[in-house]
Amino acid sequence: MKTEEVTPIKVEKTAGSRIGEVDFSKLTFGSVFTDHMFVCDFKDGKWQTPEIKPYQPLVLDPSARVFHYGQAVFEGMKAYRDEQGQVWLFRPEENFLRINKSCERMAMPAFPEDYFFDGLRTLLKLDEQWIRGGEGNSLYIRPFAIATEPSVMASPSSEYKFIIICSPAQSYYGGEVRVKIADHYSRAASGGIGSAKAAANYGAQFYPTSLAQQEGYQQVIWTDANTHEYLEEAGTMNVFFRVGNTLLTAPTSDRILDGVTRKSVIAVAQSRGINVEVRPVKVSEIIAAAKDGSLKEIFGSGTAAVINPIAGFGYKEEKFELPQIDNSYASLIKKVIIDIQYNRAEDLFGWRYKI
Ligand code: PMP
Repeated sequence: MKTEEVTPIKVEKTAGSRIGEVDFSKLTFGSVFTDHMFVCDFKDGKWQTPEIKPYQPLVLDPSARVFHYGQAVFEGMKAYRDEQGQVWLFRPEENFLRINKSCERMAMPAFPEDYFFDGLRTLLKLDEQWIRGGEGNSLYIRPFAIATEPSVMASPSSEYKFIIICSPAQSYYGGEVRVKIADHYSRAASGGIGSAKAAANYGAQFYPTSLAQQEGYQQVIWTDANTHEYLEEAGTMNVFFRVGNTLLTAPTSDRILDGVTRKSVIAVAQSRGINVEVRPVKVSEIIAAAKDGSLKEIFGSGTAAVINPIAGFGYKEEKFELPQIDNSYASLIKKVIIDIQYNRAEDLFGWRYKI
C-alpha cells in the first residue's frame, strides 16, 4: 500500500459545495452523495488517467454491456472521524483485494492499487467536511466498476469505468431484526458468483427477501443451494451463532462473501478467549440449540452496521425468539471494533488506515 500521492489524477473541483443543503441528522442510507466522484476509464487495454470531478450523471450508450450482461462489481467501506478530527479507514486493503477478486470472477480487468489508494485519499481529502464525527456517523464509500463498451455481443466488454462515490451515513439498521431461514430460494450456488461482490447477487436477493418481509421478517438467512441444510449468510451480512459459549460461523467458500467484518469478528473473539468454530453450521443443530436453550445469540456482521443482533428467526412454520442476555458477545465484539474504527483504542491488529 502506497502512502505518497504518486498517481497523476486530473482534479476538477466543484464550483460550489452542496453540503449546506444536507440535514445530517436525517440521512436516509445511500441517497445523498458528496460533492465529488472518482472516475477512471479502461480502454485500449489499459486504465487511463483517473479523474476526480463534481458528482454528476454518467452518459452511457444504451448498448453498454453492463445493462445487458451485468458485468458490474462493487465494494462497501467507511471512513470514520475521530475525536481529534482525524479521518480513518478500516482495513481498506481488504476491500481493494476483494474488488479485484470480484473483477476476476466477472472477467473484468483488475484495478491498480496505486490508483485505488491515491484516488481514494485525494477524493476523501477533497470531500473531508462531509465526514462527520460522533458515534455512528461515517462516510460510506462505494467503489464500483461497470462494463461500458457499446455492444450487445454476449462476451466480456473491452471498456470499463471504475468509479468511487461517497455518501454520508448514520447507523444502517434500526430496530429489531427477525430473519427467515431460506428453505427454497438461494443467493448463491457452488461454482457461481456468491463470493464476488457482483451486482447480480443483490438483484437476485430482492424477490425472496420481499417474500420474507411479507411474512413479517426483515431479512433472509441464506442456506446452501444444494440441500438448504447449512446456514451461510444473513441478508447482506455474514452470520454468527453463539451456542453455549462457542461462536459458530460458516467457512468462506465460492458461495459466501469473505467479509472484512467477519474476519475482524473472528480475530477479536479469539483475542478475548472466546472459542470460535469456523465450520459448516447445520439448520438442524441451531433449531435443536434454540429448543434446548443453548442458543444464546445470532448476529450478522458487515461494514454497514458492524454487528447486527438478530432477535428471532423462523424456519418453515416454526418461530423462535432469542433470549435477552447481558454481556452478549455481539455487544462486546462490536465495541472493540468500533473503538478501533473511531481511534478510541489501541490498534492492536493494525487495522486502521489514516487519510
Ligand atoms: N455478505 C454479503 C453478501 C455482503 O454483501 C456483505 C457486505 N459487504 C457482507 C457479507 C459483509 O462484508 P463486509 O464485512 O466486508 O462488509
